[in-house]
Amino acid sequence: MLVNLLDFDAGSLTAWLAQEGEEPFRARQLLRWIHQVGEADFERMTDISKGLRAMLMEEACVAAPKLLREEVSGDGTCKWLLDVGAGNAVETVFIPETGRGTLCISTQVGCALECAFCATGRQGFNRNLGVAEIVGQLWWANRRLAQSGVAPAQDGRAVTNVVLMGMGEPLANFDNVVSALHLMLDDLAYGLSRRRVTVSTCGIVPAIDRLREACPVALAVSLHAPDDALRDQLVPINRKYPLADLLAACRRYLERAPRDFITFEYVMLDGVNDADADARELVRLMREVPCKFNLIPFNPFPGSGLRRSPPERIRQFAHILMDAGIITTTRKTRGDEIDAACGQLAGQVKDRSRRHIHVARAA
Ligand code: SAH
Repeated sequence: MLVNLLDFDAGSLTAWLAQEGEEPFRARQLLRWIHQVGEADFERMTDISKGLRAMLMEEACVAAPKLLREEVSGDGTCKWLLDVGAGNAVETVFIPETGRGTLCISTQVGCALECAFCATGRQGFNRNLGVAEIVGQLWWANRRLAQSGVAPAQDGRAVTNVVLMGMGEPLANFDNVVSALHLMLDDLAYGLSRRRVTVSTCGIVPAIDRLREACPVALAVSLHAPDDALRDQLVPINRKYPLADLLAACRRYLERAPRDFITFEYVMLDGVNDADADARELVRLMREVPCKFNLIPFNPFPGSGLRRSPPERIRQFAHILMDAGIITTTRKTRGDEIDAACGQLAGQVKDRSRRHIHVARAA
């Protein structure tokens, strides 16, 4: 088996090279070639000694997940279906905007959390993605976008922002996600600022605390309901980590966070969580948590049994939050004609129903 160098962050690459008798500066050279230049061919890494190149060609590779399908929407949003083996595939979405390009990355094949309104949850859970599969989405996207002539937004790379909002629950794949985050932040690799990398979580409280210590980046929390009774239904993990515990974890996170607010995502479901009274309840709930709200018009998928709130309802809901001084944006629906919008990422998941094992491990 070849060693996939996309699996290594700076620390583990240095350690692996040391075993091979190589100096730490070699790790720095390699990181730059792999992540900044996007080079996968060791022969072209010209400043690396011949001996080391020969060893790498024999023992190592730089292998991101392979492309199965590419779709480009009229608004420039790209969706890539990437092969992660054994009949499974995950989706990555690139959203171009003026001056920046956001990549939405998947962290698991499927998801175990079964949120009522999410297509990924419907698919069940197969497995966690490895570091190479997570960071490989970013590696791959930068290469692909450079090839297709998408104007590099910054430092020659098209991706300026990363959101872990694709398939899966990032904090249920903690160690691999943190190694991938280290690479995203590392100046020798992608050099993104902590503020431009966002982890989105449904609220696994102990893991929010661990992230605060291990690698505090911007945090988005999928809230979706103003009280436990409704959130228990929409986001079942709430039965384990109810709102009071979640909000307390958010306050603790802010002590170390790169931004001085938490983003709360709130999917707008017609007649379910979109009443004026729900908005007013949110205002009360948020008194103690500096936050912004991002309202997400529900993106339907076959068999969901749910409807998107009408635009006027969303405006009125946003109005109540903003009147109370909470900065509120409504997420533009991008790429929905190619099923690339939030909650529509289904990929291909062979469900082996390891849900319970997985949820227990997340705790
Ligand atoms: N598991 C993580 C990240 C993935 S989902 C989390 O729960 O945050 C990214 C965002 O899309 C979450 O806020 C999620 O609740 C939202 N989402 C899921 N399904 C959706 C749908 N059908 N329409 C709109 N938003 C959805």
